[in-house]
Amino acid sequence: MGLDFSYNIAVAEELGNIRCGGVPMAIGVQTGMATPALTRFGSEELKKQFLVPTIVGDFVACLGISEAGAGSDVANIKTTAVRKGNEYVINGGKMWITSGSQADWMCLLANTSEGPPHQNKSLICLPMNLPGIHVAKKIDKLGMRSSDTAQIFFEDVRVPCKNLIGEEGNGFTYQMLQFQEERLWGVASALTLMETVIQETIDYTRQRKVFGRPVLHNQTVHFCLAELAAEVELLRSLLHRAVALYVEGNDVTKFASMAKLKMGRLTREVTDSCLQFWGGMGFTSEVFVSRCYRDSRLMSIGGGSDEIMLSIICKYMDILPIK
Ligand SMILES: Cc1cc2nc3c(=O)[nH]c(=O)nc-3n(C[C@H](O)[C@H](O)[C@H](O)COP(=O)(O)OP(=O)(O)OC[C@H]3O[C@@H](n4cnc5c(N)ncnc54)[C@H](O)[C@@H]3O)c2cc1C
Repeated sequence: MGLDFSYNIAVAEELGNIRCGGVPMAIGVQTGMATPALTRFGSEELKKQFLVPTIVGDFVACLGISEAGAGSDVANIKTTAVRKGNEYVINGGKMWITSGSQADWMCLLANTSEGPPHQNKSLICLPMNLPGIHVAKKIDKLGMRSSDTAQIFFEDVRVPCKNLIGEEGNGFTYQMLQFQEERLWGVASALTLMETVIQETIDYTRQRKVFGRPVLHNQTVHFCLAELAAEVELLRSLLHRAVALYVEGNDVTKFASMAKLKMGRLTREVTDSCLQFWGGMGFTSEVFVSRCYRDSRLMSIGGGSDEIMLSIICKYMDILPIK
């Protein structure tokens, strides 16, 4: 049960056609970020209760990993879920939670024991209507303004132990696996968007005349657009290779991290370079490129920053110094 991954990625590429970054992001959380671990490791009962209505679209899901004091350093989260009888009692808080103010449930990462940080965490399906859950605020942001991003606190929130995904203590590992899908999904959703920005820039610069000829006829402009289009195709090839390997059952953490790194950098390069060719129009709120310019700044931060992607790649290349 769950969405077929390659289908999910194909949908993500299509979603780039939606002219609003917040929509693909909300759908991405739903299909590729908050649900992969539940699909893979959750009990049948949990899947019926949370996964089915989420895929159907009756439930909004969110993913609760990051905290005010721990974003890049996931192992350092402080939220606890302490077992008392048949329930976990949850205390702490989550930060930057996409769809957090309207979600029906959260895929929550919490510390369920005192053990070593990679073995003391668990993923739990947390209904968001329980007493003790406080959505503190919707965060005002530079971009992705149509996506709601919330800070949430938990005060003695009681949830049945059967809401645990998979085995207690495996949450960190499950989340690292879940991140592979999140990152590949993110790459897929950015490709069509970049192509759209390039195409709209071609259309605009073809009709916009400066010094008596179309802006596009300047070699610096059409060469730049050609180069960007080539980079997008390279990224698409890496994505498709990683997805094919993943569907065959391989660990693609290295390729997913490489693709996510390149996606973050390339979306920023594409939107910045293209915006330049729109002149003053590019600086207005009337055109798609300016919105993409703001929205794309997130890509090098959310879902693991560029630096975290580089650290993972170095780890897989066996060149990361041991602490
Ligand atoms: C709009 C938005 C939506 C988000 N949605 C969600 C969500 O739904 N669920 C969720 O759990 N989280 C979500 N996040 C959180 C996101 O994943 C984190 O912001 C991200 O992981 C970075 O964590 P941080 O913000 O705490 O930055 P920090 O961890 O404080 O890092 C700050 C900067 O330090 C640098 N840095 C960090 N580590 C290293 C290193 N090892 N080497 C070199 N430099 C380093 C990087 O440049 C990094 O950007 C969202 C964030 C945003 C902005």
